Amino acid sequence: MKVLKFGGTSVGTPQRIQEVATLVTDGEKKIVVLSAMSKTTNTLIEISDYLYKKNPEGANDVINRLEQTYIRHVEDLYSTREYREQTLDAIRGHFDYIRTFTKDVFTPHEEKVIVSQGELLSTRMMLNLLLERGVNACMIPALDFMRTDENGEPDTAKIKDRLGRLLNELPEADIYITQGFICRNAYGEVDNLKRGGSDYSASLIGAAINADEIQIWTDIDGMHNNDPRVVEKTSPVRSLHFEEAAELAYFGAKILHPTCIQPAKFANIPVRLLNTMEPDAPGTMISNNIDSKRIKAVAAKDNITAIKIKSSRMLLAHGFLRKVFEIFESYRTSIDMICTSEVGVSLSIDDTTHLRAIVDDLKKYGTVTVDRDMCIVCVVGDMDWTHAGFEAKALDAMRDIPTRMISFGGSNYNISFLIRAEDKEKALRSLSKHLFHEE
Ligand code: ADP
Ligand code: ASP
Ligand code: MG
Repeated sequence: MKVLKFGGTSVGTPQRIQEVATLVTDGEKKIVVLSAMSKTTNTLIEISDYLYKKNPEGANDVINRLEQTYIRHVEDLYSTREYREQTLDAIRGHFDYIRTFTKDVFTPHEEKVIVSQGELLSTRMMLNLLLERGVNACMIPALDFMRTDENGEPDTAKIKDRLGRLLNELPEADIYITQGFICRNAYGEVDNLKRGGSDYSASLIGAAINADEIQIWTDIDGMHNNDPRVVEKTSPVRSLHFEEAAELAYFGAKILHPTCIQPAKFANIPVRLLNTMEPDAPGTMISNNIDSKRIKAVAAKDNITAIKIKSSRMLLAHGFLRKVFEIFESYRTSIDMICTSEVGVSLSIDDTTHLRAIVDDLKKYGTVTVDRDMCIVCVVGDMDWTHAGFEAKALDAMRDIPTRMISFGGSNYNISFLIRAEDKEKALRSLSKHLFHEE
C-alpha cells in the first residue's frame, strides 16, 4: 500500500480538494494524509495569540471570519444537499469547540488543541467528498494512533501497533484518510509534530505499515537544486539518495519537514515528491540509489546563532569538548555545525530558548562570544572526499561571502557554510551560478 500526503496548497481551495479527490480515486488501496488548508494553521495560531493576550473579542473576530470562509468552501465543494448539510454541521461543531477556549486562562496545551482543528477540518471535508462520490473511504484519526514519547520523539512501536489495529478493523476500505501534523503526546494530550509536520506524519505512517512508497504531493515539481523562493532558474533534481534528501530537509529545503526522511530511510521506503498542479511531472525520487559524484542542490537554514568558546588550555584539557557538549545536552539544545581549533570551539544552534543559561554555563570553561542573525548555507551531493574538487568548487562560489565557519567531512553528502543572514541571497545565487550553470 502507498501513503500519499497532500500539503496545504494542494487542498487550499474547494477546487483543489476536488482535484485531489479525483487523483486519489484510481482503484488502488492507499492511505491519504492531509495538511490543513493553506493559511488555516497560521490563522489558528493567530486566534491563540489573541487568547494568550486575553483579547477574546479579537479571537472571536478571527474565528468568525475563518468559519465563514469554511462555510463558503462547503457551498462550492459538494453537489448534494445531504453532504453540504452534514459537512456544515461538522464544521460548525469544530468552530463552536474553538469558541469554548475564549473564556478562561489560555494554556499552550489549549493552543495545540485549537491548532489541531485545521487538519481535522480538511480531512472531514475530503472524506465527505469521497463518500458523496461513492468512494469506499474511511477515516483513521491520527489522534488515535500518532504518538510521541516522553522526549517528544515519535513512539514508533505504539504508532505501528495502533495503526495496524485500526487498519485491521477496516479491511474493506479503499482509501484511508488521516490527518498529518497532529498527534498525542506521551500523556495522551493533543500535540503536533511542529510546523510542516504533515510530511513527517506521512513518513512515520509509511514506515509503520511498511508502505511500498511514500508520496509527498505539493505545489512544485520536486526538490529543486536551490531555493526557488530566493533564486531564479532553479530546476528539479530527479533523483536523490536518502542521505542527500535528509541533509537538504534538515538544512532548510522547505519542501520537506527537517526530520521526515529518517523514518523512510530506516525502513528503506522510497519517497517521491510530486506536484499536485502537474500530476504527470516526474518529480523527485528519494531512495537508496545514488547518482554518484555529483553536487545535487543547495539549501539554507535561517535563524542560526553561532557560539564560540575560547579556552587557552584546550589542547591540554582532556574532556573540554565533553564538558561543552554536556551543557548543550542538559538544555536539550542540538548543535548543527561544529569547528574546533587548538584554542577553542565554535558551534551553531537554531533553538535559542536556553541561550542565556547555556552561555552562563559555558563561561566556566572559557571566553564566550555569540553571533546572532546567522544562516547556514549547505551544499549537498555525493562528494566522497577521495574525489578531489567538490569543496574547491563550493569554496570558489563562496569567495566573496564573509564566512564564519565551514564544515566538511561530517558526512560525504554535505559542505556547510555559516554566514551572515544578510548575505544569504548573494550566497545562494552565487552557488547556483557556479555549481549548476557554469558548464
Ligand atoms: P506543502 O504545503 O505542500 O507542505 P511547503 O510550502 O511546505 O508545501 O513546501 C513547498 C515549497 O517549498 C515550495 O513551494 C517552495 O517554495 C519551497 N522550497 C524551498 N526550497 C525548495 C527546494 N529546494 N525545492 C523545492 N521547493 C522548495
Ligand atoms: N498544517 C501544518 C502547518 O501548516 C502542518 C503541515 O502543513 O505540514 O505547519
Ligand atoms: Mg510543508
